Amino acid sequence: DLRRVTRALLSVSDKTGLVDLARALRDAGVELVSTGGTSKAIADAGLPVLDVSDLTGFPEMMDGRVKTLHPKVHGGLLAIRENPEHEAAMLAHAIQPIDLLVVNLYPFEATVAAGKGYEDCVENIDIGGPAMIRAAAKNHGDVAVVVDAEDYALVLGEMGANGGATTLATRKRLAAKAYARTAAYDAAISNWFTRELGETSPTYRAVGGRLAETMRYGENPHQWAAFYRTPESRPGVATARQVQGKTLSFNNINDTDAAFECVAEFDPARSAAVAIIKHANPCGVAEGATLAEAYRKALACDPVSAFGGIVALNRRLDAEAAKAIVEIFTEVIIAPEADEDAIALVAAKKNLRLLVTGGLPNPRAEGLSMRTVAGGFLMQARDNAVVDDMALKVVTKRQPTDAEMRDMLFAFRVAKHVKSNAIVYVKDGATVGVGAGQMSRVDSSRIAAWKAAEAAKAAGLPETLAKGSVVASDAFFPFADGLLAAAEAGATAVIQPGGSMRDDDVIKAADEAGLAMVFTGYRHFRH
Ligand code: 5GP
Repeated sequence: DLRRVTRALLSVSDKTGLVDLARALRDAGVELVSTGGTSKAIADAGLPVLDVSDLTGFPEMMDGRVKTLHPKVHGGLLAIRENPEHEAAMLAHAIQPIDLLVVNLYPFEATVAAGKGYEDCVENIDIGGPAMIRAAAKNHGDVAVVVDAEDYALVLGEMGANGGATTLATRKRLAAKAYARTAAYDAAISNWFTRELGETSPTYRAVGGRLAETMRYGENPHQWAAFYRTPESRPGVATARQVQGKTLSFNNINDTDAAFECVAEFDPARSAAVAIIKHANPCGVAEGATLAEAYRKALACDPVSAFGGIVALNRRLDAEAAKAIVEIFTEVIIAPEADEDAIALVAAKKNLRLLVTGGLPNPRAEGLSMRTVAGGFLMQARDNAVVDDMALKVVTKRQPTDAEMRDMLFAFRVAKHVKSNAIVYVKDGATVGVGAGQMSRVDSSRIAAWKAAEAAKAAGLPETLAKGSVVASDAFFPFADGLLAAAEAGATAVIQPGGSMRDDDVIKAADEAGLAMVFTGYRHFRH
């Protein structure tokens, strides 16, 4: 798979490192072909170079719009060596092979960034450059393509080590980079056009996003917004079929995603589960024998917050569940499927959006998560850790009871979907208090306990719902105080990652309070 470089075509707007490259290529016996400005720079350095006009027999014309767009160039880049038909065509039309292409494009992005006018920007859209890059990259079996001055040394080094030849592995890597460059270039041009038109639509091509729809506004009415789909086809809000209701807003999509990802943690073969979400945090999650039962339990956790919430189900929506859900104002219902009579019940609420996804996403699936920061963006693997797969360790003297263990697993599953710092109280397969998004873990503990007391009051019960509950923490307790706050509120068992410097103190406090505690070894931060 070695390919000797005998002829190179150089055409660069940014001439950094050009002369050194040309000299090294000349020294390696490579014939140089080049376009106007590039050719002049090489010749000025006293190096032999063939002007591309002499190769094609055509002058550069139309302000340089047409320089290299010619079969002598593109045939030389695209011909497959050792293919008799291609060889015959080359012979018939006096086309000579080009084994190395070095191109960097007209500085379109820099021209836009410099605030240049419309005409200037248009004239800086490179046509022949991307055409050659794409041709050479397609023919990477025979041709090496360099689009970045940073790679000059790499190619020269490889030629030096292989008697003037490049390897297939490198040509492939260069081809991948070449297409990334032309894709980014076209994305920049497209973005510029949309801005010129006064339309607002960024292209997050980096993650393969395709514009699905533009929205009336974003998180707030003064923010424009658009929804992009990626090729990933997980069942979820992006691929769901909307059965009825108003169009989804930016916040609807965000919250519905959080809701469905949360409820997908619950195996539908084991139990019916419901998650009610507000502002991307669960305000009630529960499992039951039926969806209706799970819904009532989830609602009881925080009936005040559930108003105007998003309801996600892990099983086919049935009439009984639909009836219970439509009793209070709900923004969105999302479920894998829906029964006809359930659809009919939902239809009575014209605005209520009903989405069916055709399935549940696999919580263990790999995927990407992305967020922007000023001047860039962060990418990470999605959190696909599932508590059932973790090597759980009981660290206290007291072993948890079976019921405590069941609820602890439930609580940790939910905690994964609560913004940090997350504290989740669970009793009998239902959250009874959720503390989310606080800057201190103790505050989240206090809020969760307070919510459990409030929920009891709302239900007319004499005792806090946290009494006899278990508690999950998304990250370790750095001190015993958060844990003790949970015990005081009535929790009897604790599940947390462990791994604090003061684990010993925390375990000691748990033992003294008669708690059972389990370490998971996994943290579920979510911000
Ligand atoms: P030079 O400075 O050598 O005159 O021009 C180099 C630039 O021309 C490179 O950025 C290259 O991508 C671009 N280029 C090469 N061939 C063509 C062509 O046929 N049309 C256009 N518009 N640009 C070209």
